[in-house]
Amino acid sequence: MDILKRVSEFRTREQQLAWEGTFAEYLQIVKEQPFVAESAHSRVYNMITSFGTEEIDGNKQYRFFNSELFGLDKALERVVEEYFHSAAKRLDVRKRILLLMGPVSGGKSTIVNLLKRGLERYTRTEAGALYAIKGCPMHEEPLHLIPNQMRAEIEQELNVKIEGNLCPYCQMKLEQEYNGDIAEVRVERVLFSEDKRVGIGTFSSPSDPKSQDIADLTGSMDFSTIAEFGSESDPRAYRFDGELNKANRGLMEFQEMLKADEKFLWHLLSLTQEGNFKAGRFALISADELIVAHTNEAEYKSFIGNQKNEALRSRIIVMPIPYNLKVSKEEKIYKKLIEQSDINDVHIAPHAINTAAIFSVLTRLYESKRQGIDILKKLRLYDGEDVEGFAETDLEDLQKEFFDEGMRGIDPRYVINRISSALIKEEKKCVNSLDLLRALKEGLDQHPSITKEEREKYLNYISVARKEFDDSAKNEVQKAFVYSFEESAKTLMNNYLDNVEAYANTSKIKDPITGEELQADERLMRSIEEQIGISENAKKSFREEILIRISAYARKGKKFDYTSHDRLREAIQKKLFADLKDVVKITTSSQTPDEIQLKKINQVTERLIEEHGYCSICANELLKYVGSLLNR
Ligand SMILES: [Zn+2]
Ligand SMILES: [Zn+2]
Repeated sequence: MDILKRVSEFRTREQQLAWEGTFAEYLQIVKEQPFVAESAHSRVYNMITSFGTEEIDGNKQYRFFNSELFGLDKALERVVEEYFHSAAKRLDVRKRILLLMGPVSGGKSTIVNLLKRGLERYTRTEAGALYAIKGCPMHEEPLHLIPNQMRAEIEQELNVKIEGNLCPYCQMKLEQEYNGDIAEVRVERVLFSEDKRVGIGTFSSPSDPKSQDIADLTGSMDFSTIAEFGSESDPRAYRFDGELNKANRGLMEFQEMLKADEKFLWHLLSLTQEGNFKAGRFALISADELIVAHTNEAEYKSFIGNQKNEALRSRIIVMPIPYNLKVSKEEKIYKKLIEQSDINDVHIAPHAINTAAIFSVLTRLYESKRQGIDILKKLRLYDGEDVEGFAETDLEDLQKEFFDEGMRGIDPRYVINRISSALIKEEKKCVNSLDLLRALKEGLDQHPSITKEEREKYLNYISVARKEFDDSAKNEVQKAFVYSFEESAKTLMNNYLDNVEAYANTSKIKDPITGEELQADERLMRSIEEQIGISENAKKSFREEILIRISAYARKGKKFDYTSHDRLREAIQKKLFADLKDVVKITTSSQTPDEIQLKKINQVTERLIEEHGYCSICANELLKYVGSLLNR
C-alpha cells in the first residue's frame, strides 16, 4: 500500500509541474527568466555545472559524474570544457557531432546515460524548466512564432537568441486555428522523458544498413491520412516522429554511428551545421539538439582512414574516454558493478578487489622508457602514492609520455564476469585474491580479442599482482599475530630491561644454580636496538636514557612498562615482528597443531574476522596460504 501511495505522490508532483498558458504569458516568463529559452547545448552545460565542482588531488571534478564514473577526471574535464562549455557559448564546436572514443566498458555509455537521466531530472527543476508550443510534435521553442524580420530587436529586449523557424505543423495550425494571432497560441511546460520520447532520443544503426529507413530519423508520410488531406505536403499527413524530431531541445544518442549508412550521417551533419534537416516534402525543419555518439579506437581509425569520409571528419569532435588508470578508482568501479550484479550476496575477501584492480590497471599501462621506473612504480605513482625518488613533476612527465595510454587493456566488466563465473563454477560462498587471479588467468585463453603476445604479457602481470597480494597477506597475518602477543611484547621488554641493568651493573643477578653473576646478553640487546637504527656508538647513551627514565618513574611511584618509552616500544614491536615470522610459520603450517597453536590460530582468525573484514572461510584460507608462503 505504501508503495502505491508513494507512486501516487510522485504522479501528483509531476502534475504540479505542469504549466499551460498563452504565448503572451510565456513572453512574460522569458522576460523574467531568459534561461528558459536557452539552447540545448547550454541546457546540458548548465545542468552539469549546477551540481558544482570540487578539487580532489589537484584535479577538477564535476560532481555530476561523481557517483557513477571513477578515475576519468581529466577526460571529463576536457569534454565539459572543450565541448559543452564552448558549445554553450555558441562557439563553433556546437556545430559538430560529439564523438566519444574509447575502449569497451570504459565509461562512454555511462556518460551518455548520465546526461540523459540528468536532463530528465533537470527539466523538472526550476533552473532547467523549458516550454514548447502546445501540440507541436517536436515540442518546439515558442519564440519561433516571432517573425524573422522582428527578431533582432526582440532578442535584445528579452536578452535571448532566437534560432529556427516554425515547423510545418505549427505553421499550419497558427493560420488555421489561431488566425495568425500568435499571442493566443497555447504554450506548455515540457518535461523530458526518454520513455515518452520527449527531448531525449536514441538511434541505432542496424546490422544491415539496407534494412534501415531514414524515416526512423526524420519521420515519415502517414499514408492512412494522405487521402483525407489530399497532399503529401500537408503536415497533417506527416508523422514528425523520427528520433531527430523527438529529441528536439535535448539530446540524441547515435549508437554505432560510424557503421551507419552515409545518408544518415549527412542528415546529422546538416542538423548540427545548419540547425535544420530535410524531411518529406517540406522546407527545412529546424531543430536544436545535441548529438552524441560513441565508438572504439579501431572503428574510428578505419573510419578516418576512408577517403570518402574526409568531409564528415572535420565536422565531428572526438573526445577520448580512456580506461581509468588508478587502482583505487578501479576498486570503486568493481564495487559498483558488484553491487549491481547478482553476486552481491557473496563474500569478497579483503585484498581481492585490490588484486584484480592491480592486474587490470597493469594491462592498461605502457612501460615507461625512462630510467629507474618499473611498471609497478608507475602504477603507484599514478594512484597518487609516494614513491621514493619520484616527485610530482615526474608523474606529469610520465602521463605525457604516451598520448593513447588507457585505450587498451582489460575492461572492468570482464573482471566482474570472471568473478561471477568463478563463483558459479566452484559454488563458492566467498572469493579471495587467488580465486580471482586464477579465474582471470583461465579467462585469458577464451578472451576473443587478446593476441598471443598480449597474453604472455598479461600472464606476467598476473604474477606481479600475485606478488603484491603475497606481501599484503603476510603483513596482515603477522599484524593479527602481534596483537595476540601483547604478552610477548611485555616479556621481551622485561627481558631487555634486565639485561640493560646487568650491563650497567646496577643490579647483580645471579644464576640460581651456579651462583655466577649473569652477564648481560649483548646479542639480545643489540637485536632490539638495531630495529630502530641505534648504532654501536650510541647504544650506551640509549641504555642510560632508559635507566634514567626507569628511576624517574620509580621515584614517582609509577610503573615503567612497555608503553613508557616510545622508541623502545617501537623497537620491541619491530623485533617481535621479525621473530614472529617463525612463530607464524610454524603455527600456520602445522599439520597437527597442538593445543597452544590451535588457540593462537583461533585468536588470529577471530581478529581477522572482527577487525579486518574476513569471513571464516577466507580467514582460514589466508592463514594456510601465508603458512605455505613462509615455508618456501
Ligand atoms: Zn512545431
Ligand atoms: Zn570470505
